[in-house]
Amino acid sequence: MARMKPQPGIMDIALYVGGASHIEGVSDVVKLSSNENPFGPSPAAIAAVERSARNLHRYPSTDHASLRNAIADAHGLDVARIICGVGSDEIITFLCQAYAGPGDEVIHTQHGFAMYRISALAAGATPVEVAEHNRTVDVDAILAACTDQTRLVFIANPANPTGTFIALDKVERLAEALPEQCLLVLDGAYAEFEPGYDGGAGLVEKHDNIVMTRTFSKLYGLGGLRVGWGYACQDVIDVLNRVRGPFNLSSTALDAAEAALGDRSYTEKCLSENARMRLWLTEALRELGVGVDDSHANFVLARFGSAADADACEAHLKTQGLIVRRVGGYKLPEALRITVGDESACRRVVHAISQFKAVVV
Ligand SMILES: *Cc1c(COP(=O)(O)O)cnc(C)c1O
Repeated sequence: MARMKPQPGIMDIALYVGGASHIEGVSDVVKLSSNENPFGPSPAAIAAVERSARNLHRYPSTDHASLRNAIADAHGLDVARIICGVGSDEIITFLCQAYAGPGDEVIHTQHGFAMYRISALAAGATPVEVAEHNRTVDVDAILAACTDQTRLVFIANPANPTGTFIALDKVERLAEALPEQCLLVLDGAYAEFEPGYDGGAGLVEKHDNIVMTRTFSKLYGLGGLRVGWGYACQDVIDVLNRVRGPFNLSSTALDAAEAALGDRSYTEKCLSENARMRLWLTEALRELGVGVDDSHANFVLARFGSAADADACEAHLKTQGLIVRRVGGYKLPEALRITVGDESACRRVVHAISQFKAVVV
């Protein structure tokens, strides 16, 4: 077996580490490590999954027309320029596969989402890391890092794991100044959490070098089903559809996503609870002396005095049945990313961190 060598770059991939979900010997565990919706999927999505069970002998649609139409209606987009993927992760994979290969560079930022680097390496391309400024994407630093080999630039807005957000005029300035062989990918996994933000859809209409990606995994609470989508100019979508498998999404996933999208009152309730508890959590942590930037997503990044403090706090939270995310792999070893849970989960987090602080100080 050892004689069979994979393609160059593959063995440079550090395996993705997902959020943990259980703690040995502790019951009443709350998972706050993967930015999942604390209220679960919409009842309409659950009903759609149950109905779909009766038709599982049928192959799913290959063009995803029904879900794409629902997305186009909900967001006011051109249905022909929407592509659906197995999570937005698959759209990221398609982009790297189609546009970047050996000798090409793919830019991601210092604290950027791990999948950009993984997908670039899997395609044989070279990931290039660009510094951020105070945990925020720095447009000038990205432009300075562009070369004739740069094919893709990935930024998430709002960003994960920092929760920071950059204004649309900065995004547009980046798109306008990129080298002409380069696509800007705007990852909108958390776009719904920023009031009035369209994820950059309006910019896609004006600039043919922008791709927007979106997901049903966060606000819509369907991470387990894997549904995401992308929006770009027709040429790019036609390219991506060539590398997409014809049956990439299951009928169950398609039906559930469409039902979730239609349940507006449910998502509105989830959004308002997130905003309320995020503010409460942010202020409570600051009062305890924990550094927290204003978050534009469904999590907060809590900064401690040192990596050792962050590790010790994480260990204490674990003893209290609270699983949060260590983000050393995102170059933030002194921080913990905490998903905004329901009110009881947020209160448990603050109580446990106040216990930790009382011991440390
Ligand atoms: C969660 C997340 C995604 C979504 O991934 P899916 O494959 O759609 O579940 C994409 N980008 C970022 C930055 C994320 O945090």
